[in-house]
Amino acid sequence: MSEFEAVIGLEIHIQLQTKSKAFSSDSTEYGALPNTQVSPISLGHPGTLPVHNQSAVEMAIKMGLALDCDIRRVNQYSRKNYFYADLPKGYQITQFDTPLCNNGFVTIKPKDGVEKNIRLTRIHMEEDTGKSMHDQDLNDTLVDYNRAGTPLIEVVTEPDIKTGDEAYAFVTEIRRLVRYLEICDGNMEEGSLRCDANISVMPKGSKVFGTKVEVKNMNSISNVKRAIDFEIQRQIEVIENGGKVDGETRGFNGLAGTTFSMRKKEAINDYRYFPEPDLPPTIITEEYIAKVKSEMPELPRALFNRFTNSYGLSDYDAAVLIDDKLSAFYFEDLCKLTPNFKAASNWITVAIRGYLNENALDLGDFQLKPSQIAEVIQLIDSGIINHSIASQKLFPSLLSSPEKTAKQIVEELNLATNSDTSFIEQIIDEVLALFPEKVAEYKSGKKGLLGMFVGEVMKRSKGKADPKITNQIITEKLDA
Ligand code: ADP
Ligand code: MG
Repeated sequence: MSEFEAVIGLEIHIQLQTKSKAFSSDSTEYGALPNTQVSPISLGHPGTLPVHNQSAVEMAIKMGLALDCDIRRVNQYSRKNYFYADLPKGYQITQFDTPLCNNGFVTIKPKDGVEKNIRLTRIHMEEDTGKSMHDQDLNDTLVDYNRAGTPLIEVVTEPDIKTGDEAYAFVTEIRRLVRYLEICDGNMEEGSLRCDANISVMPKGSKVFGTKVEVKNMNSISNVKRAIDFEIQRQIEVIENGGKVDGETRGFNGLAGTTFSMRKKEAINDYRYFPEPDLPPTIITEEYIAKVKSEMPELPRALFNRFTNSYGLSDYDAAVLIDDKLSAFYFEDLCKLTPNFKAASNWITVAIRGYLNENALDLGDFQLKPSQIAEVIQLIDSGIINHSIASQKLFPSLLSSPEKTAKQIVEELNLATNSDTSFIEQIIDEVLALFPEKVAEYKSGKKGLLGMFVGEVMKRSKGKADPKITNQIITEKLDA
């Protein structure tokens, strides 16, 4: 048992998916040739004037509402002054003492843990910097300013997180929300969602936090967890060996699974914040908030509650379905067409998801309409086909002929369950003749062999013998 506990706060930068930048009409398209999306405003030439992009404000408000924040009505911008090669203006436009959002929280359910609320300190609007590239050229660092001026929101948490698993659950929830809201693609590899973790350790039960270390450069959610787990252990060892944890910024090496020192925090940075003189405050009215709210989709928590309460799904099934918006909404559409909600959930989470995963597709590319899946469910529930025929024959045929209805395929391929007793009886007689010893064993009391006989008949009928009738006839014959 460790004598220490960890304290963790996260800072998450979220690139907003606007078409143009935060303060200019430059495109934000990812992957363009370097320095092709850079007007004089992005580069901060003297005499240029920024104009705030309204859709960035709208997206930021959506996030604030989704996280139960208070939305500020008068939003001032500030200049955060520092010199760095990726910051051509010499300052970043951000929000300092008037962040757009305060007082929100995120409910998480970590792996093997209980639900818990993580409080948010703030969410503020700002702009991204350019990107320095140290590994493109042998001798020089290159800079691409395409990213400079891309709108961001930064979500800062209170130090409420205790473990790597909790941080994992938190970032997962944030990523899911930005995807539901369609304000960011949540792609950590491409850097559209970036997470810095502030980590400290202290003796268990202490009220005084230890010195925090900030870890950067985790390009996936599992790396956020790995970096935190490593860093907690490293700090504990430093203290147990009689040392002191240095306040510093560390990077994460994903291959080694370790953190390394990048720079020491020698002094508090003085950014000389002052109000941005070129931008008027953004005023947000009650009506505007109501309008933005009315355009938001139903969020995962609400969907989860509805799926478990109204559709009677298990917590597990509901959690799998709400994992992404498309599957939640597909389920909802399917439930309008079938009364069998459990089957609807199973088709999406097993057969459909399996097919999509195998082919690296997402539900947006799926060729079958909910009405086609509803028909499959109906065919099973009315006894016309059985489940294994449906998943092994009908579903694959539908996938390759999506223009057909399920009924058409059942007819064309003659898939309907055969309840013709003479057809079934004939196969049963064959099977019983093939296994005289098993028949004798059954008759001497090994009733468990019934399943094996039924299985043989199903196999020989290519799955089409009605299992109920098969069962009945075999029992009659054997018990005669
Ligand atoms: P800084 O001024 O160094 O950026 P902040 O007070 O703004 O520090 O906090 C940044 C983040 O660090 C927040 O998420 C906060 O919850 C977290 N944090 C603050 N103190 C600690 C600590 N001792 N240990 C872990 N995280 C902390
Ligand atoms: Mg900070």
